[in-house]
Amino acid sequence: MHQESSEAIVLSVMDYGEADRIATLFTPERGKIRALARNARTSRRRFGGALEPFARLQVRIVLRDDRLSILHDADIITLHPAIRRDLATLALAGYASELCDRFLPDHHANHRLFRLLAACLAHLESAPYDQSDRRFFEINLLNILGYRPSLDQCTRCGAGLPPDPGARYVASASGLLCSECGDEGRIAGETVMLLQKSLGTGRFGVVRFNEQQAAEAGRLLDMAITAHLDRPLKSIGFLCEMTQTPPCHNLS
Ligand SMILES: [Zn+2]
Repeated sequence: MHQESSEAIVLSVMDYGEADRIATLFTPERGKIRALARNARTSRRRFGGALEPFARLQVRIVLRDDRLSILHDADIITLHPAIRRDLATLALAGYASELCDRFLPDHHANHRLFRLLAACLAHLESAPYDQSDRRFFEINLLNILGYRPSLDQCTRCGAGLPPDPGARYVASASGLLCSECGDEGRIAGETVMLLQKSLGTGRFGVVRFNEQQAAEAGRLLDMAITAHLDRPLKSIGFLCEMTQTPPCHNLS
């Protein structure tokens, strides 16, 4: 058995048996790993308070391809304590982590997605909740995974959709429709331009959607996310409740 050291973000943790815990970890080199932390509930020596959602850790782990890996020990890089002080921020961090968990296959490295989640958690740690961060995370997640909805071409007729703040478009799961192909243009060209800008800048906090724009972006992004999920997300109800966002997009 081969033990290796890695950085990791804790996506989720569950109790297992009398004394153990199972952590789902996201590592840059090995992707998502489910690992058994023996005696994590009874002995704090090896794990301390490290096994918390959103924690960024340095772990030593025995990798096993076809079953649970073994988490040997973990040192805390940061627990992101400020995320836990605000319910909306906590809900968004949980949602971002669940999306990574659900979209990533086991043992499949995805450096860009790791960096996106790490940047998201670092940003949530230092900035007050803003709905823009959710939409920024979603469009970049979909882009990295190859599921980005089309923003510059009608997905039905193929007509180009050049940047036009005054235009209105229709959302579909695979991307925008032009006004000829859809009968109810509910997404403003300005919102589309913000989504494109979100793909062009690598930093959270730069692109800002107002309430209307965030809702419009949500119509498109929630459809695109739902199209690639086989069952509802557990975190979406809490997120919608804590952020007063209507849970209208079939995610729950
Ligand atoms: Zn069209």
